Amino acid sequence: MMRQVELVERVKRYDPSADEALLNRAYIYAMVAHGSQKRASGDPFVAHPLEVAAILTDLRLDAATIIAAVLHDTIEDTGATLDEINRIFGPEIGSLVDGLTKLKKLDLVSKQAAQGENFRKLLLAIAADLRVLLVKLADRLHNMRTLAFMPPEKRRRIAEETLDIYAPLAGRMGIQEIRDELEDLAFRTLKPEAHETITKRLSDLTHRSEGLTGEIETSLKAKLAAGGIDARVSGRQKRPYSIWRKMERKSVAFEQLSDVFGFRIVVDGIGECYQALGIVHTAWPMVPGRFKDYISTPKQNDYRSLHTTVIGPQSQRVELQIRTPEMEEIAEYGIAAHALYKDGKTDPSHLGSESRAYQWLRRTVDLLAEGDSPEEFLEHTKLELFHDQVFCFTPKGRLIALPRGATAIDFAYAVHTNVGNSAVGAKINGRMAPLFNELQNGDEVEIVRADGQMPPPAWESLVATGKARAAIRRATRASVRRQYAGLGRQILERAFQRAGKAFSDDKLKGALPRLARTSIDDVLSAVGRGEMFSGDVVRGVYPDYKDERRGGGEARDEARSSRGGVNGGGPAPHAIPIRGIDPDLPIRFAPNGGAVPGDRIVGILTRGEGVTIYPIQSQALAAFDNDPESWIDVRWDIEPGEERRFPSRLALQSINEPGSLAQIAQVIADHDGNIENVSMKRRTEDFTEVTIDLSVFDLKHLNAIVSELRAKPAVNRVERVLA
Ligand code: MN
Repeated sequence: MMRQVELVERVKRYDPSADEALLNRAYIYAMVAHGSQKRASGDPFVAHPLEVAAILTDLRLDAATIIAAVLHDTIEDTGATLDEINRIFGPEIGSLVDGLTKLKKLDLVSKQAAQGENFRKLLLAIAADLRVLLVKLADRLHNMRTLAFMPPEKRRRIAEETLDIYAPLAGRMGIQEIRDELEDLAFRTLKPEAHETITKRLSDLTHRSEGLTGEIETSLKAKLAAGGIDARVSGRQKRPYSIWRKMERKSVAFEQLSDVFGFRIVVDGIGECYQALGIVHTAWPMVPGRFKDYISTPKQNDYRSLHTTVIGPQSQRVELQIRTPEMEEIAEYGIAAHALYKDGKTDPSHLGSESRAYQWLRRTVDLLAEGDSPEEFLEHTKLELFHDQVFCFTPKGRLIALPRGATAIDFAYAVHTNVGNSAVGAKINGRMAPLFNELQNGDEVEIVRADGQMPPPAWESLVATGKARAAIRRATRASVRRQYAGLGRQILERAFQRAGKAFSDDKLKGALPRLARTSIDDVLSAVGRGEMFSGDVVRGVYPDYKDERRGGGEARDEARSSRGGVNGGGPAPHAIPIRGIDPDLPIRFAPNGGAVPGDRIVGILTRGEGVTIYPIQSQALAAFDNDPESWIDVRWDIEPGEERRFPSRLALQSINEPGSLAQIAQVIADHDGNIENVSMKRRTEDFTEVTIDLSVFDLKHLNAIVSELRAKPAVNRVERVLA
C-alpha cells in the first residue's frame, strides 16, 4: 500500500507548489473513514483509493484531483458526508468527490432505457469537470486490475461496461495508455481463451522475429543519423485486443496481421518529422495509400503523428509513426496531457477545454438537450464513441454532424423524419448523387423529395445512425401493414362476392367484436397476412351463412379455420421462421451453406418448389437476375434468445499435425455449436481442406466461432460457404 510520504513525494515531483498539508489530511481522512473495511481481495479497502491516486500521479494531475481520488469512495461507503469534505477540503475538491459519488450509482449495462439515461448522467457529470472522468477512469482501471477477486457474473458485467463505455471514452479523450489497458483487461475477462491463444502466439512471434526487429531498428537509426536527424526509435508492442478486433472486423487470420513490424520515431520538432519521413521514403519504397498526415489534420481526440508503411530491408512491411515528444505525450495521455504542469499557467478546472476532444464532449452534451429518448441517445452516442464524425451542411448552412460512414439517407433523417421518409435523391455539393453515397466532411447536401414515397426496407442496411434505422423500420412497418390491408380488402371483396353477400366497411365494423379485432384495418391486414381467413370473416359478418360448395379455396379455408378458429387469432407458424411469405407456400433454406438469423436474406419463388431462402451474398442468386418477379422480400421472424439452430457450412484449411481436428472440434464445442458433418480432403503434405456442416443460433454465434477458429495455430484459413 502506498505510504503517506510516497503520495506527497509523487505529487511534489511534478508540482512543487502542491499543498502538502492538504494531501496529508486527505490520506489520514481516507484511512480513518475506511477503517477496517476490506476489499474482495482481502486488502485493506483504503489501498484502492490510494492506488487510484497513484495512477493519476502518473498522469501528473493537479493536487485537487489527486485528493479527490483519495476521497472518492468515502461518501458512499463510510460515514463521511459531503458537508464535512467541503468544510475540510474546500468546495473544489468537494464538488469533484460529489460528482464521483453520483457516478458510482450508475449502472451502465442494465436495461436499455436505464442505460441510456445513466450514460447521459455520466456525460453530464464529466462535462461539468473533466477531472471527474479522469478519476473515474483510474478507478475503473484499478478495479479491472483486481477483477479476479469478484464473482464471475459481476466480473463479466464490469468487463462489458468497460469495453462498451469506459475504454471508448478514454480513447475519445485520447488517453491511449488507459484505453489499451482497459481493453486488454476486459478482453481477458470476456474471452479468456482467445486472449491466451493470441498472447502466446504474440510472444512466440516476438521471440522469432527478435533478430529482424533489431536489424530494422539499427538500420532506421543509421539512415536518420546520416540525414542529420537525432531520433529515438523504438519497436511497437502489438496488443492482443487490437489483433483480435482486426481478426473479427477484417476477417483475416493471425498470420496476415503478424508479419508487420511497427516502429515509433520521436524527433525534436515538426520540421524534423517531415524530414524523417523524407529520409524513410527515400531509403525504402512506401506502400501506397498508407501515408497519413495527422499533424496537419489531427484526429478528433487531438492525436497527431505522421503514419506511413514502407517495405523494409527484407521485404517485410514496416509501419512507422513519426512524432515529437509533445505529440507523444498527447498520444499517451490525451486530454490529461493538457493539464501537465509546465509553466503553472494551466487552470486544471478548464482542463483541455481548447482541445478537440473536449469540444466533442461539449457537443455531445448539447445534443442531450434536444431530448431524444434515452435509447436513441445511447445508440447515437455509442456510435459516436467508436467512429469519428463527419460534418455536413444543409443548403441553408445548418450544420449536421453524423458518424463517419453515414450516407445521404442518414443526413435526410437527421434533418427531419419526414425528409428521410420522402427522400428520393440527393444533391451533394450541387451534383446529383445516389442516396447511399457515403458523406465526406464539409459536404453540402440537398435532399430531393417526392410526396407519397416510402423508404424501401433495404435502406435499413445503408444507414449508420440509429435515428435513421429506427425511422425506416417504423415507416416500413406502416407501409407493409398498408400493403397487407390492401391485399386483405381484395381478398375479402372476392370472398363476399363468391358468397353472394354484400361487403362494406360498416358491416365489417359491426362484426369486429365477433372477430375479436379492434379495427377494420386490423381485420384487413390480418387477412392480407394470412393470419385470418376470408371464410371466417364472411361468417363473422353473416353468422347464418353456410358455404354449400366443397372443394377449391373455400374448402381449404374451412379446414384451416377449424385449426385457427374465428377467435383463435394467432397465425399458424411456419416451420421456418420467415415473415413475408404466404403461409400456403412451401418454404426451405438453400442447401449447402444456407442463411442463419442475422444474415440478410431474400426468397426466390420457383414454380412447383415454393420459396427458397438465400443469403443475399449468395452466388446462386445471379441465376435469377433476369427474373425480378421471383424475388420476394422476406425477413426473419425470430425472437432474440430463441434457442433454435440453423445449418451453416464452413470451409477450413488446416495444418496437418496431430490434434488439428481435435482443436477445431473443441472450439466449436466450446461455443455450443453442433457439428452435423465433417468431410476432409488432404490437399498436400501440409494442408487438409475441411468442410464442416454445423448448426448455430445466428450469425453472431457463427462469427464468434469463425473468429476463434482463425486464432488457432492449426487453422490456416476459414471461410463461410454460402449456397
Ligand atoms: Mn472506487
